Amino acid sequence: MLKITVGFLLGIIIGLIFGPAAGVLSPLGDLFLRLLKMIVVPLILFTLIVSVNNSNPKELGRIGGKIFPYYLLSTAVAVFLGIAIAKLINPGKGLKMPENATLDVPEAPSMIDVLLQIVPSNIFESMANGDILSIVFVALITGFAISFMRNSAEAQMKDWGNMLLKFTEAGSEVTFRILNGILQYAPIGVLGITANSIGNQGMETLSSLAKYVGASYLGVAIQMFIIFPIILMLFRVSVVKFFTKTREAIMTAFVTCSSLGTLPVTIKSALNAGISHRVANFTLPIGATVNMNGSAIHFGVGVVLAAEIVGYDLTIGAIVAIILTGTLASVGTAGVPGAGLIGMSIVFTQAGLPIEIVGLTAGVNVITDMVFTMCNVTGDLVGAAIVDKTEKDVEEEDLPLQNAQESNLQYDSKSI
Ligand code: ASP
Repeated sequence: MLKITVGFLLGIIIGLIFGPAAGVLSPLGDLFLRLLKMIVVPLILFTLIVSVNNSNPKELGRIGGKIFPYYLLSTAVAVFLGIAIAKLINPGKGLKMPENATLDVPEAPSMIDVLLQIVPSNIFESMANGDILSIVFVALITGFAISFMRNSAEAQMKDWGNMLLKFTEAGSEVTFRILNGILQYAPIGVLGITANSIGNQGMETLSSLAKYVGASYLGVAIQMFIIFPIILMLFRVSVVKFFTKTREAIMTAFVTCSSLGTLPVTIKSALNAGISHRVANFTLPIGATVNMNGSAIHFGVGVVLAAEIVGYDLTIGAIVAIILTGTLASVGTAGVPGAGLIGMSIVFTQAGLPIEIVGLTAGVNVITDMVFTMCNVTGDLVGAAIVDKTEKDVEEEDLPLQNAQESNLQYDSKSI
């Protein structure tokens, strides 16, 4: 962790001194991102199949029933927070409509399409494309199939089921070992990414949109350091321990600007924080794809910016509609760098605001994307932490002694 921070600080210094020339270091960062992405698909597949076999369908249903309301509620709050902060700071006052900044707005897919696409028409294609929700789906049904085989009355089936589970457990161990290796390289990767983005960020664009950037940072700070701690405290999770144990993931999200790229580190940090494998492996891949608290703040701040530039009065009705579309758009936002710009253009189109303004903010997106992604990943971890806590409370009522021993073990064996 200390090494990553040193890499980050060195990256800033190199970026500031050499400016755009620091771009020569960007392959170092690209290599880090590629390594992380390389491990995402096998990691999700192996760990989820093992998780399903270590828990029963009832438990998984219970976890899902807790995590989804949390995702939707915390995202809606984040859109509102973005709007409220921006209303105080007025980022659009004094700015003009950009003349030639254009952007293609993709059609917003319908809810039915989004749900249908979770079921892949070709398993291998979904893995090749990194469609995380489809991969989660395939991993879950494979996990259940193996679990049924293991519990079958037929000796042959039982044998195969146990063999497949053993194979998957070994595969999961392999991916974690590779991940540990990748993390050794993290400080250099982080240096490359930071030097490149700091070196290439024009200072002029930054000063003209300083209020917009300021509102975004303030919104994220409130979500991270007030709202998330309150949620954690409500569920009696130690805030200090949470942030110390998960800071590696938070920092990686900040520099990579990608929730998906950060996912392997997020899972590792969650285990490090004592969150059970079952909850971490099941909720975090889904969270990295659908839960975007930071992106939601992005949409809230962006809408106020655009409304102020064009002189559009945001009524209560309009704000409620924006919270709804903002929440849905953030579910649809991919966990990759810059994806929020597409989500924002969907929100703008539905609110009747000119999407050229999205282009205006694109110039500072590298700087804002960092904190939005950091907030996205922290939100996923907060969700996992509180669900884990409620799960442990349930278990404690049932099996006080066994559970205490188990959670201690997990905590020790998975420390980074
Ligand atoms: N970069 C963000 C993420 O990966 C998504 C966004 O652009 O809002 O979490």
